[in-house]
Amino acid sequence: MNITLEIDPSSGFCPGVVRAVRQAEDYLALHDTLHSLGPIVHNSLEIDRLMAKGLQIVDLKSIDSIAGGVLLIRAHGEPPSTYELAAAKGITLIDCTCPVVLRLQKEVRKAFLRMESVGGTVVIFGKHGHAEVNGLVGQTEGRAVVIGSTDDVSVVDFSRPIELFSQTTKDPVEYETIVEIMRSKGKDVKVHNTICAQVSTRHESLVNFARSHSMILFISGRESSNGKVLFDLCKSVNPRSWWIEEASQVDPTWIRDGDSIGICGATSTPLWQLEEAMASLSSGLK
Ligand code: SF4
Repeated sequence: MNITLEIDPSSGFCPGVVRAVRQAEDYLALHDTLHSLGPIVHNSLEIDRLMAKGLQIVDLKSIDSIAGGVLLIRAHGEPPSTYELAAAKGITLIDCTCPVVLRLQKEVRKAFLRMESVGGTVVIFGKHGHAEVNGLVGQTEGRAVVIGSTDDVSVVDFSRPIELFSQTTKDPVEYETIVEIMRSKGKDVKVHNTICAQVSTRHESLVNFARSHSMILFISGRESSNGKVLFDLCKSVNPRSWWIEEASQVDPTWIRDGDSIGICGATSTPLWQLEEAMASLSSGLK
């Protein structure tokens, strides 16, 4: 078959994830074990690679088991209650909260204090239960209203002043729609542009990349919310887009002679995985 393959030059880990993975690897180069509060990335192959080096994943329920030990906070960040709990258990933190998320947490906190003084509400557009969103809600002492989609807008009380934020990895176009609806319903809605620049610029370049190929292989863990957003984006401009977790899941019937196949992934997909997929496809198609 005459096939060409190209890796999206803008794919690979975002800087926040690169930083967290590097800090975990630096620690594991000197120690046998490191506990991480939740998976560092939503990517099972990368997690397997780090676990082989000694990474162990814990949740808040099992935090007692590492009292007095060391715990990595991932790029998504955590609410203040996690820091309090860790201090109470004598746990030393390797805090890998992405600086962009950290800034957002501070902005949300300030907005919460402003809204408290005028009887207003902080609203967060994000995925219910996502670690970053939980961290942001924690800045408002649990009082922020989370909306996951346009359907949720009805739960917002528009008779009060509102400050609106977005989770850093949400779809910029969907956020614009939310903003328009919120502004049409409320008189006092202050909008904060808090989608990460890494994510919004990737949206633009990914659209161009998906359009310029006859078929797209999108590689990411199924649990990645950024993966779902970016895959949907590819699919919207290239109907022959397939979402796989690894190269072995490629169905040969998807591929046609003459295809130009674009390989891309989420902000949680490591570049090495895209390169491995490309190598395995090119040897399989020979
Ligand atoms: S997507 Fe942006 S905000 Fe989120 S971890 Fe990556 S660099 Fe940080």
